[in-house]
Amino acid sequence: MLVNHEPHMIARSADWKNALANAVRDPAELLALLDLPDNLLAGATEAAKAFPLRVPRGFVARMARGNPADPLLRQVLPLGEEMLPVAGFGPDPVGDLAAQAGAGLLHKYHGRVLMTATGACAVHCRYCFRRHFPYGEQRPGRDDWQGVVDYLQAHPEVDELILSGGDPLMLDDQQLHALSQRLRELPQLKRLRLHSRLPIVLPERIDSGLLAWLAGLPWPVVMVVHCNHPQELDETVAAALAQLHRLGLTLLNQSVLLAGVNDDAETLIRLSHRLFDCKVLPYYLHQLDRVKGAAHFELAESQLALLTETLRARLPGYLLPRLVRELPGDVGKRPYSG
Ligand SMILES: *Cc1c(COP(=O)(O)O)cnc(C)c1O
Ligand code: SF4
Repeated sequence: MLVNHEPHMIARSADWKNALANAVRDPAELLALLDLPDNLLAGATEAAKAFPLRVPRGFVARMARGNPADPLLRQVLPLGEEMLPVAGFGPDPVGDLAAQAGAGLLHKYHGRVLMTATGACAVHCRYCFRRHFPYGEQRPGRDDWQGVVDYLQAHPEVDELILSGGDPLMLDDQQLHALSQRLRELPQLKRLRLHSRLPIVLPERIDSGLLAWLAGLPWPVVMVVHCNHPQELDETVAAALAQLHRLGLTLLNQSVLLAGVNDDAETLIRLSHRLFDCKVLPYYLHQLDRVKGAAHFELAESQLALLTETLRARLPGYLLPRLVRELPGDVGKRPYSG
């Protein structure tokens, strides 16, 4: 193992910024670190021009060497196939551009508004439905979060704000503090939700400063992490999640169903069990959004029905993720009905 953090050590703020700055961005370096053949390089370089490679070293350390089919590697390695056009796969599969309610705000569902707090992520997931999203124009923090305050004041029925992205924990502690100070002006808020992949891909982010910020929030906090495979949940991640659990946060997980990563029942069952060990309950298992460049991750319809049945037969209800799909114009995520 390349990483060997003390499980109970809480990192300092410089640590996560260093880990982020040191993320692997060069396909040739990633292949070399994992003893993978050069014949993957041409495709990786080409696909990385459209959506760059980015992966923290701690996440790379959880991959097996010499295995081009490693389920963690597959999530981040650019492939030549991404460049092939596939019918039905477009740049904005869930209709986000049409649902924008203001700078960085998406108001699609009753009572909750999702804010793309920043476009940045610590990892670039090849299947990401926001890979073509024009985040450059999305900086809701630019005006001291005035846009979100105005919007929520005009919509008092919204009682939950979802901080998403990109990844909201890419904001530093100071920015998070500035945001939560503004949100205190909104008496309607009953819950604050964060959707973040950082506890999984960059557990250094769960440091003393972030824990202090979370502990000081006046609302119940729901954190939805994003993990697709049990191999992602090593001891460093388990320790970070335990810190969050100790604060009393509600911890949930969302996964994306991905061919070649987690498209078999045994893996998904192990994932649910391992999440539970880490104090996290499975929430959503998303069907792939049909985003351009991600067609090779799609499962056949017949496989979905079989998987759903097997999971239902094997898992207790509270460890069974809801298999859902997001469709443009829908009132909520749509449960799969085979
Ligand atoms: C997924 C999503 C939500 C949250 O949906 P839940 O079913 O409450 O988890 C809210 N807003 C948008 C725009 C979303 O895409
Ligand atoms: S962390 Fe989430 S938003 Fe960022 S690239 Fe991965 S899937 Fe997309």
